[in-house]
Amino acid sequence: MASVEIRNIRKNFGPVSVIQDVSIDIQDGEFVTLVGPSGCGKSTLLRMIAGLEDISGGELRIGPRVVNGVPPKERDIAMVFQNYALYPHMTVADNMAFSLKLKRAPKAEIKARVDRAAEILGLSKLLDRYPRQLSGGQRQRVAMGRAIVRDPQVFLFDEPLSNLDAKLRVQMRTEIKALHQRLRTTTIYVTHDQIEALTMADKIVVMHDGVVEQIGAPLELYDRPANLFVAGFIGSPA
Ligand code: ADP
Ligand code: MG
Repeated sequence: MASVEIRNIRKNFGPVSVIQDVSIDIQDGEFVTLVGPSGCGKSTLLRMIAGLEDISGGELRIGPRVVNGVPPKERDIAMVFQNYALYPHMTVADNMAFSLKLKRAPKAEIKARVDRAAEILGLSKLLDRYPRQLSGGQRQRVAMGRAIVRDPQVFLFDEPLSNLDAKLRVQMRTEIKALHQRLRTTTIYVTHDQIEALTMADKIVVMHDGVVEQIGAPLELYDRPANLFVAGFIGSPA
């Protein structure tokens, strides 16, 4: 686990500024949801934390370390995307083991980590299956398994449930929270769903047009929104 410190971060794509001076402090083990309308910069911010996108200005710390310019592989972060592409020709076990094999981890260690992740996610009996033989929820669990095996200091989720139907979304929300209760890995969870943001978070960050409108506990934002945007966004679930 590690804290994440986002200090006056900016991002321009050419002349266009999409993130303006964003600062967020995330404590060790905290579950933070990052919420805001489509296009407000959530994915861009997450990709900068992961190292997939350069930072135009400001400072980013993971634990004690400033990581500006540090390549993704050296950041000890695992990201779960909305379009989690599993490798169709690989079994569940091999999908989960893939990143560890790339890192040339010892075989016994890979097996131990895959078995543990499978146990945590209820996938132990499905390790020999192929993605096409799985339900949507099971596939999403495998995608999470690929992140868990790496035992990262920070999990980044980018709208991981938006491809699932409503019922499954609610179930997976509960599972992701249970996972966090168990592992206590610092988590930044992006969503545009107000309910998801309110129910899952220790702390919510509300973004709008590249700036942070408010940061606080769910009840705090609900009871005392800082402005009309937050009131409208948090108060009127989609
Ligand atoms: P969100 O995830 O909140 O929907 P994004 O971070 O994907 O928002 O996008 C924020 C803004 O940055 C959008 O206006 C988007 O069009 C723009 N943007 C994202 N990636 C790029 C890129 N590679 N080049 C130019 N503009 C981009
Ligand atoms: Mg996005």
